[in-house]
Amino acid sequence: MKRIGLFVLCLWSLSFFMPVFPCQAAELDGSWQYRLSDEGGWQSYLPNTPVPALQAGHEVWLRVQVLPDAPSADTLLFATKGQAVEIFLGDREIYRDGEFAPQKPWGHGHKWHLVTLPDFAQPSYLMLHIYADSPRELGVFGRITLDDFSGQAQRIFLTDLLYIITLPVVVLLGMLVLMYVLNSRRHKRMNMYILALLALMALWTVSLTNVKQLFFNYPVFWDFVAGFGCYLLPLAANAIVMEMVEPQRRMVIWRTIQAYGCIAVLALVTEALGFEGFSGCRQLLYAALLLLQTLVGWVMWHSAQQGNVYVKYTLIPMVTMGVLGLVDGILFFRGFWHWQVYLLPLSVYTFVTFVICILRDHILHERSLLAHAGDLQVEIAAALQRVEQDELTGCRNRGAFEGFIQQQIAAGREFALIMLDIDFFKQVNDTYGHDRGDEVLAKFSRTVTAALPPDCEFFRWGGEEFVVYCPQKSRAEAAALAGEICRLVADTELLAGQKITVSAGVARWHTGADTQAGIFRRMDDALYGAKCGGRNQVVTEQ
Ligand code: GH3
Ligand code: MG
Ligand code: MG
Repeated sequence: MKRIGLFVLCLWSLSFFMPVFPCQAAELDGSWQYRLSDEGGWQSYLPNTPVPALQAGHEVWLRVQVLPDAPSADTLLFATKGQAVEIFLGDREIYRDGEFAPQKPWGHGHKWHLVTLPDFAQPSYLMLHIYADSPRELGVFGRITLDDFSGQAQRIFLTDLLYIITLPVVVLLGMLVLMYVLNSRRHKRMNMYILALLALMALWTVSLTNVKQLFFNYPVFWDFVAGFGCYLLPLAANAIVMEMVEPQRRMVIWRTIQAYGCIAVLALVTEALGFEGFSGCRQLLYAALLLLQTLVGWVMWHSAQQGNVYVKYTLIPMVTMGVLGLVDGILFFRGFWHWQVYLLPLSVYTFVTFVICILRDHILHERSLLAHAGDLQVEIAAALQRVEQDELTGCRNRGAFEGFIQQQIAAGREFALIMLDIDFFKQVNDTYGHDRGDEVLAKFSRTVTAALPPDCEFFRWGGEEFVVYCPQKSRAEAAALAGEICRLVADTELLAGQKITVSAGVARWHTGADTQAGIFRRMDDALYGAKCGGRNQVVTEQ
């Protein structure tokens, strides 16, 4: 409850922190003193610097005088890294945090402390007894301030502003990319690396905030994330680049990744062994960042020049990340900030255009695929039609008939079939030539098609033989239709000066035990009967 209250207070105070930001608060940076044992004499000390002349030991006592003239400024705020602390006001212990013993291998972590001072009447000494994992960190607190509670809440939140304005952007971009990864197979590996970079960036940014301590108070874990995250970010960023560049350029990027990998492993191992590898390897990391990112930038520049659009989109975020990383490095070593502050998270804004461009490219690609798929469908339909159509007569061919009739049988339809065979067609060919024979076939087909009821289907079975599919028709109805066709053909002048007739055999589909071979045999027998009976006539199955 108290944490949520403080968080709400932070948010509330943020709304007007500009005009009332408490610059007047006591910074406690006057006349500090230190001693190296609880009995030794006090010597003067410059706040926020490592304790001087400390060759051995991990403990120190620091003190500063506080006056009772600002009763509202009763809240002390300071942050520690790798230190345990005890606070006394006069002789009273008023606060204690952490174990006064080595915490191997990951140390005491990084956290801030908000301590309420009890009322006091006389000027008193505020004394801090500190234990540090490393002498280098002994006495380094960032800025120690004494202010009222809301002033301190503003301070906690103010340093977070930089991270808080970038976090939602990282999360949003991550969600966009995640949605894409889940729904597309394209550039899967590259998208996974982008996702990894954004996730890492988000976690690392959270580790830099103060507010996280209100909700996830695990200083050692966050210190680890903040320390190690710096080493992993260039790895993830260059993994993306490697996926984008042309195969012949990959080796350079791969070597770069290996170099960053070695530095990361070195930092991790030395940190785990208690040698403060995360801070110790920073110089190496920043030197590598300068050299290797210049090299990567050069490779990317050439790739972009040759028309690699992905690299073109990525160039700006990568350069921004490299530059901000270096600026962070310089500010870190120059001791510019009172406490750990990184500008690198700001580079996420350049990622917005990058992710949008990548997604746009994906969308355009998919759109062109869809358009292509539409064209293909049209082509497939046309090809299918060509395959199923008889070129000479324009009606559907035997292959089409086979598929069609199997569908009707499978669907349990009732139907009758008429087989039509032009009489003495060989003679037509022999007498008038093959071309005229073709003309007769085409004209025959047109004549019959025009005369058929709309629900009937007409197929060329082969040669001068045709099949009519008659749905829902009885044998008699189909025979009547076949009779009409015979009469029509006989009355139509299919070939000048020559009467052309056709014979028909009719059979009906007997549902149940009937087979495709069975109905064809019966229809063929009937046709044979018509031929034997003198042609130009219809015979129905027995
Ligand atoms: P029937 O009355 O017994 O049916 O006698 P027919 O001459 O019609 O029968 P036959 O099976 O002896 O001859 C069929 C002929 O049809 C033989 C072949 O040359 C001809 N034919 C088959 N396909 C085509 C074609 O595409 N074009 C032409 N012009 N003739 C074809
Ligand atoms: Mg024939
Ligand atoms: Mg014939």
